Formats: sequence, structure tokens, C-alpha cells
Amino acid sequence: MSKLLNKWREKMTKEIKNPETIALHGGEYRSDPATTAVAVPIYRTTSYQFKDTGTAANLFALKEFGNIYTRIMNPTNDVLEKRVAALEGGLACVSVGSGQAASTFAITNCCQAGDNFISSTDLYGGTVNLFTHTLKKLGIEVRYADPTDPKNFEKQIDEKTRCIYAETLPNPYLRVFPIKEVSDIGRKHNIPLIMDNTAAPVICKPIEHGAAVVIHSLTKFIGGHGTVIGGCLVDGGNFDWTADPKRQPLFNEPDPSYGGAVWGKVVPELTGANVAYAVRARVVLLRDLGSALAPDNAFGIIQGMETVALRMKQHCSNAQKVVDFLTKHKNVERVIYPNIHKGEVGDRAKRYFKGGNGGLVGVEVKGGVEAGKKFIESLKMFYHVANIGDARSLAIHPATTTHSQLTSEELLAAGVTPGYVRLSIGIEHPDDILADLDQALKASGGAKLKAVS
Ligand code: PLP
Repeated sequence: MSKLLNKWREKMTKEIKNPETIALHGGEYRSDPATTAVAVPIYRTTSYQFKDTGTAANLFALKEFGNIYTRIMNPTNDVLEKRVAALEGGLACVSVGSGQAASTFAITNCCQAGDNFISSTDLYGGTVNLFTHTLKKLGIEVRYADPTDPKNFEKQIDEKTRCIYAETLPNPYLRVFPIKEVSDIGRKHNIPLIMDNTAAPVICKPIEHGAAVVIHSLTKFIGGHGTVIGGCLVDGGNFDWTADPKRQPLFNEPDPSYGGAVWGKVVPELTGANVAYAVRARVVLLRDLGSALAPDNAFGIIQGMETVALRMKQHCSNAQKVVDFLTKHKNVERVIYPNIHKGEVGDRAKRYFKGGNGGLVGVEVKGGVEAGKKFIESLKMFYHVANIGDARSLAIHPATTTHSQLTSEELLAAGVTPGYVRLSIGIEHPDDILADLDQALKASGGAKLKAVS
């Protein structure tokens, strides 16, 4: 590379913070080192030829960093990982096969049997299942805290608490999480805050507000086209895993599965960077649990990600138009959107979001369950699917679908009322989105059906 180009790359990596540019140029990739191809190649390989036996041994001993095996790393995935890390303002990123794998890794990278963690009650239904049932079977206890008051998190901490977990913009309530307030509480006790930022890429950067780790379901807004399932964990590089060795045993005690490595010490020594969390997730969890993202899928997500900043602008602006339209509509009981909440919860949207309030909108159609169902069935352009963050507009009735495995108490705790419909507003022309909503609301019968519910 020319000197000038090198300089620009350095500036790009260190100084350029604009998401539009990062999404296209972030990370170290300029062109393929072997062919100079500009588009990121799909490295469809399981393995990498070692230069010699010494290099092979060094790679396995982490004395040198390089490609070993695609379950653990891959050059296509590497480009995606560096771009997402740059987008979130983190130091390193590990990609995995789905958002669910990312949540599983996020917790099991710092908790083991006998430990507990505190989670916000405002969560994706699949995450509730993972935390309440599957992690419990592995001996890891979740303690739920209502995020309306950040102090609820502190009340649940004991000597076995290893991390705090929350979503930036959880549906159905769409109450923005008090990131800094809870991160400050955690840091007082040397407990990291892990934020699922799936619903708010570009408009919110939780690491800037104190989160230690950000996870994504890349399936949603970052991939953006409903074509690929993927996930990732971003290490903020801003948390001292060794400050209180008893608090974080997985980073301070020798790991017998890796020659007695003490991850909190060995990683900064080897890399010169505070990325023990990311390295452990890669070399221990990906090694043992699998869940690697296929390079073909990483390529699909890289393509989608190139336009994420542009799409988020359109998602946000269209969603605001939908909110303005629905709040005035006679067949609508209630609209949920981050900036509609009153008081402190509403103020969080102003404090934490830049450039919009996201693409998700909640709506309660007048007439309860039946009207809600009729409304969804009458939508013509919106797809009726279990996804969010697609370029297309989507709708679903959570109580009978995404959240259907929760008990009625869990449903209410998660804010899923019977008639609630979740909309993920796409990037179509706003006039066409409003027209589809209007005709479906009229078809739903609105207030006339109220007596039936
Ligand atoms: N986190 C959030 C906020 C989600 O909405 C989802 C999926 O809907 C997930 C995680 C899980 O992601 P995936 O479907 O990619 O496994």
C-alpha cells in the first residue's frame, strides 16, 4: 500500500467515527491481499496451511495470532467483525451463528455453574427462555430487575453476580434502557454491563455510555434484508476484568482447558490490548461450543451492513411518520414509541439516541385480540413475519407467536398485552406504508369490535 493510503487507513481506523463511512471502509480491509478484489471475498475454507511446525505451535499457543480453523476464525468473518467493532466504538468483535448464540456466549463467557447475573425484565422472548430455563439447567441463575428504576439492579447484586444484561430498545415497551445509570452501578461492583443493541445500531452506541460489551443479532437491522441469520459480541475494551479477581474468576483463575492461561493477564500481555473478553469468547467458547458464523453468511451481512446508516435514517423517519399517523387514527387505542413515553423514561430517548428513535412501533388496535388479528390479516404490503429490522415493513402479534412460550404472567411482565401488534417499519415510501396501515385499520373494524373482546 502507498504511504498516503496507509495514512488514510490509519486515520480511518482511529479517527473516522461516521457510521456511513465505517460501514463501507471500517476495519483493516482495503482489498483482497491475494487478488486485490475490492469486494470482500468469501473464504470458503475450513483450514489454513501453516508456514511451518513452529508457526503452527505458536498459533495454537496464542504466541502468534493468525488463522487456525474456520470454527474459530475466518478472513471473511474478520472483516465483518472489525467493521461492527468500529461501528460500535469497541476494540474487538467475535461473530457467531445467530443472535441467540451471541446472548448465550455473552453470559457463559463470564458465568459458570453456581454464578448469577442480573437481567432487565424488558427482553426478547427467546432471550427470556434462554435465561430462565436453559441457563438454569446449566446452573446459572438469572435475577430479573425492572429497568424503570436503575436501583433495582443494585438490589440484586451479591458476591456471585458476574454481569448485568439488557437490551437498548426492547419491544414491546420500547422503553430505552438507562445505560449509563446501570453501567455506573455495575462498575461500582466491578460488574460489566452487556447491552443487546440489535434494535438500535447507528442511533445508539452503548459502549460510549459505559457498557462493557455489546451484542447484536446481525439478522436484523445490520444485515437488513431478511436473508441471513448471524450474531456477534463486541468487546468495548473499557472494562478491567482483573480489578477484582474474585468477582471475575473466569478471567483471573488458570484455565485448565488452555494450559492454565489466566485470560485477564495473558491477553493484554500478548495483544497489548484490553480484549480478554473477546479472545476468551473466540478461543474457548467458539472452540468448544461451535456456533461459528459461516463465511457465506458473513458475506451476506457485510453486503447488508454497507447501507445500515442510510437505512436506519429511513427506518427512523418512516417510523416517526407512522407514529404521528397512528396516534391520530380513530381505530387505534394506543401507540408505543420511545419518544412517546413520559418523564424520565421518555427523556432517555433524547439522552441515548441520535438521529431517530428506531424502526419499531407498537400499536394496540381498538377492539382487542380479534381486531388485532383482523388488522394483521388485512395488511397487504406489510409481511406477517417473526422478524424485525428487514428493509421491508413487517408486522406480528407477539402474544400468539414470538412470545407464545411465555406464561401469562411472563407475558404481562414483558408488556405483551393481548391486542398488541408489533410493527417493524421498513424503508418503503412513507405514503405506501401509511396507506397499507390505514386500509388494514379500517378493515379491522376498530371500535365496533370492542364489545366482542
Ligand atoms: N436479540 C434480539 C433483541 C432479538 O430481537 C432477537 C431475535 O429476534 C435475538 C436477539 C436473537 O437473534 P437471532 O434470531 O439472530 O438468533
